Formats: sequence, C-alpha cells, structure tokens
Amino acid sequence: MSLAQRVKPRVASLQPYQPGKPIEELERELGIHNSLKLASNENPLGPSPRALEAVREALPRVHRYPDGASFLLRRALSRRLDVPEDQLVFGCGSDELLELVAKAFVGEGDEVVYAWPSFAMYPIVMRGAGADPVEVPLDEQRVHDLEAMAGAVSERTQVVIVCNPNNPTGTSVGAEAFDRFVAGLPDDVVLVIDEAYVEYARRADFPDALAWIARRPATVVLRTFSKIYGLAGLRIGYGVAGAELAGYLERARHPFNVNSLSEVAACAALEDEEHVARARRLNTEGLVYLERELGELGLETWPSDANFILVRAGEDVYEPLLREGVIVRPMGGFGLADCVRVTVGLPEENERFVKALRRIRESGAAA
Ligand SMILES: *Cc1c(COP(=O)(O)O)cnc(C)c1O
Repeated sequence: MSLAQRVKPRVASLQPYQPGKPIEELERELGIHNSLKLASNENPLGPSPRALEAVREALPRVHRYPDGASFLLRRALSRRLDVPEDQLVFGCGSDELLELVAKAFVGEGDEVVYAWPSFAMYPIVMRGAGADPVEVPLDEQRVHDLEAMAGAVSERTQVVIVCNPNNPTGTSVGAEAFDRFVAGLPDDVVLVIDEAYVEYARRADFPDALAWIARRPATVVLRTFSKIYGLAGLRIGYGVAGAELAGYLERARHPFNVNSLSEVAACAALEDEEHVARARRLNTEGLVYLERELGELGLETWPSDANFILVRAGEDVYEPLLREGVIVRPMGGFGLADCVRVTVGLPEENERFVKALRRIRESGAAA
C-alpha cells in the first residue's frame, strides 16, 4: 500500500498553511536587501527588553523540563485577568488551543461554524479533525454577520468560533451585537472567542468576552503573546474557559507544550505595561496615518481594531511591492484577490509602504 493510500483523506486534502516567506529567502530570490516585512502582524517594536532579559537569565537551565503547569504565568494571569487559576490553559501559541478544542470536541461529521474570510487556521484545524466547516460570509461591511452565524447553528454544531477583531479584515463586532449573539446560542455548544488582537481594539463598546465565561461555562477566550507582546517566535498563547471546559483541554494537552523560555518571557512581557502601551499608541497612530494616506490614493480600506489593515490595493500589487522590498500578505487565498493585508509598522516603515504603493500605481505596474 502506498502512503497516499494510507494517509487519512481528511489530512491529504488539507491546504498547508501559507506563511509569509522568511525575509532572508525572499531577499535572496529577488536580489534585494533591506526589505520590510509587514506580512505577519508582528510587533514592530520587538519584544519587551524585560522579556529578553528574562530569557537570558533562564537560558542556563534549559536542560531542565519546563514547569508543566506554568505555575508562575498562571498566577500572574489569574491576578491580571481576575479569573481562577484552574480556568487557564496554556499552549504553543493560541493555535495550539484551537487544536486542543478540536481534539477534545470535534470528530467526523461534526459542524464547526465560523465567519469567512477569517483566520486561516480554522479550516485547517477543524477539517483536519474531521469536521464539516460551516463558513458564514462576512456582511457587506466585512464584519461578522452574527445573525447569519446564529442561523447556521444546527443539531450537528459542536463549536462556534468568533474572531474579534477579525483577521484578515481588522473589523470588530460591538458589545450589543456580541452579547445578543452569545445569549442566543445553545448553552452546550462550545464557543471559541479568538481575541488575538484584543489589546489593540479601540472601539469603546468592545465586548467583554471574559465576562461571559461565568454565565456561559462552555466558552473559551483565546489570547496570545505573539502579537502586542512581541513574542511570536517563542510560541505561547492561552485560553480562559469555564473550569470544566478548561479541564477537558488540559486532558488533551501535552504536559510540556510550553517551553521554559516562553513562560518566563511571557511573565516579563505581561509586567512591562509601558512597552504594551507604547505598542498600542504606535499602532493607533500608524492606522490613522495609513487610513488617511490610502484614502488619498483612492483606495478602499476597512476600519481596523487590530494591528493591520486590509486594503483594496488592486490585483497584482503584491509582486511589485515585493520588488520594492515591501512584503505584505496577499489575500487571494481568502477570495479577496484585489486586496492585501498590511501590518502596521514603525512610522518610517508605514511611509515606505505608502511610497512604494504610490510609485507602483503611478507607474501603472499594477492593474
Ligand atoms: C496570530 C493569530 C493567532 C495566534 O497566533 P499564535 O501565534 O498561535 O498565538 C490566533 N488567531 C488569530 C486570528 C491570529 O491572527
């Protein structure tokens, strides 16, 4: 029997996640240097210096297994978020939390409801687990259509995912619509609220998803240290859930899924509130700048509550931007071929992107 016959058809039919190319590789291919990566929603300030110091300090002890319970980080987050320690589950990025939800709750033929376009990992993880994804189109504002999502919940629905703010559109839903939606869901359906960008959200009526956990225990809120905390390379995220649900995710988890360097870095990053505040300020200024400049170029954008912006920059703009040394995320895979997603960078980086885009449009290099 060939491997192709042995592999689970579910897995063989998946499209592997398409990460942005590593800068070094791209520079080699294009014969350029000094390129600018605005493709993966990373923090342009880098990690907190305190996180770096904590990693250096912990480095000599990497021959030891990590603390499988992430005791220090658990205590710190429990205090910060005012949630009991047994309601926290840690993972190798919040991506792993999605895997744990799938492992614990999703099997062949189950339905998982989420919006589309949204985070690329949802179909990968849920299809891989055997689920039939029910992808509910965003509304004409490119915002989660929560009414349509409520209508898509069936007897077969095991999990519902809300990505707020949504990746790749940056759009968010407000408290009123969100609360109405959650209140109307069947109590026993697992609700995943992916808040990877919550720290960047600017709208005053942003929903308090954590508050729902006490009222609706089959709820898990996903957060990450990859975005505003600047630790994407260390891979650490977490879920906050009702205690029973958290217990099931704990059973699905490998004991040492979070390494010791990630845990100390996360603790230190959490404490460096000044670094986080700086990142948020920089991001807000960058979004204001990008919205204005892109508007002046006559390009459509969508209101972003995250650290990136979706731009209808026209088809075929990705490659010319690459040749200018600016790496953004093409959106063809999301059915948005005329759009790119651009991470907010440092002021000079945002300017470089806008200038490159202007040059490309003036030269007619893009359709
Ligand atoms: C980046 C991102 C994540 C998580 O990333 P990890 O690095 O795995 O923590 C989760 N959801 C969304 C929507 C994201 O954009």
